[in-house]
Amino acid sequence: MKERTSRIPGFHGLSIEERARRVAEWAKLDDAELALLFESGLTAERANQMIENVVGTHALPLGIAPNFSVNDRDYLIPMAIEEPSVVAAASYMARIVREAGGFRTCSTEPVMIGQIQILDLPDPWSARFDLLCHKQRLLDLANQTDPVVVSLHGGARDVQVRVFPDTPVGPMLVMHLLYDTRDVMGANTVNTAVEALAPVVEEITGGRVHLRILSNLADHRLAQAKCVIPTDLLEFTDSTGSTTYRGEQVAQGIVEAYTFAALDPYRAATHNKGIMNGIDAVALACGQDWRAIEAGAHAYAAREGRYTSLSTWTRDLNGQLVGTLEIPLAVGTVGGATRVHPGAKVALKILGVQTARELAEVMAAVGLAQNLGALRALATEGIQRGHMTLHARQIAIAAGATGDQVQAIAARLVAERKVRLDRAQELLAEAHPQLPEDARTTEGKEGGTEPSQGRTPKAPADLGV
Ligand code: NAD
Repeated sequence: MKERTSRIPGFHGLSIEERARRVAEWAKLDDAELALLFESGLTAERANQMIENVVGTHALPLGIAPNFSVNDRDYLIPMAIEEPSVVAAASYMARIVREAGGFRTCSTEPVMIGQIQILDLPDPWSARFDLLCHKQRLLDLANQTDPVVVSLHGGARDVQVRVFPDTPVGPMLVMHLLYDTRDVMGANTVNTAVEALAPVVEEITGGRVHLRILSNLADHRLAQAKCVIPTDLLEFTDSTGSTTYRGEQVAQGIVEAYTFAALDPYRAATHNKGIMNGIDAVALACGQDWRAIEAGAHAYAAREGRYTSLSTWTRDLNGQLVGTLEIPLAVGTVGGATRVHPGAKVALKILGVQTARELAEVMAAVGLAQNLGALRALATEGIQRGHMTLHARQIAIAAGATGDQVQAIAARLVAERKVRLDRAQELLAEAHPQLPEDARTTEGKEGGTEPSQGRTPKAPADLGV
């Protein structure tokens, strides 16, 4: 029996306060943690301990995607992102997949790669042999650097050596230390280990160690997600109510759209960007190193020498739509900013993951949901119609609209198909002929409360890139 459900009908129509209350109830947040949803709690003082030359902090909208079911467990997904439609698309696609039984995920052990570059070698093949023969000595030494990780049954796992016999700087060896970092992302852990190995590697090979650093191509640390959707669940009527797309047509359209991304790097880049919209938003909310995730994802997408789609979309023998995603995800539930950034701590509590592997698997499911949302829109009505409805709100706010004006002006911009700042300013001037432009701008910047006491206007929740 499931204890709680992440299916919260009408969540997007609630006020901000009510949404936050429902999330706090779900995640058993105390009052202080609930308050952190509104103020991330990252004081300038705390920020100053994190990086250099701090002058303040920078906030992003934090949204929650409900409806996620992953391996029969329900999740509310915290997403920090400035781009409209992403949270809506993830939520809506999760709802469809939920009806189809939810996402299935799995992952490898959290093994990272630390690289050691060795130069000045007369015979790199002989040096490679020597390193492999001393594998146990190297592993034992690496395991002395972090007793905490070793006590948690992580630590050094293997040594691999690659040879580049002829380079502009002479023969070069690259030794990989494979290291299970358990619940941390692991950059510091692995960097410490490879630095400790350097003198022994020099002694064994007779060469000179140059770089000692983690690789962000974390291809031993993969998360996989899958969904299988009966075509009838894909039928929908577009946001204007004028066109209905049959499920069969949507499923086949998604497979055709995926084929484009699988074959063409120009399309694959945008296709994968859509996947990363979801993954990065969770990463940001949960204090993860999103640059590391991005670097790993795109390098993995090009692992066979040609950049391609990270996901696949096919039909099974029953005609059901089958989506899979495989992506390296170096993420942690401890370490890095996860315990230092108060907002990230709360986001991780909402997500409720127990291990780094579970976090990676949920993120892979979010990436697949996001990808489905984008392909479904692209394969049917196109992304602009729905996306522009939400984007128009940002344009209206940028023009200086506040309160109920935001939705009113956004609706006009969409109806006129002129989602442009100049038109928003004209509409605002018509609404406020007495106000000089400066006054309207000031009103927009400082007096700006969210429209209708924070209630999100009913926007079609089926959008996203
Ligand atoms: P960390 O250095 O903050 O913490 C790692 C330590 O936490 C471990 O060494 C271990 O002693 C301890 N620990 C406690 N509980 C643990 C558990 N359950 N599992 C494993 N270890 C546990 O974190 P990190 O993940 O090693 O480093 C991440 C940081 O390094 C990020 O902030 C990242 O931005 C940064 N970084 C990234 C790169 C890169 O991606 N190329 C390079 C350098 C630094």
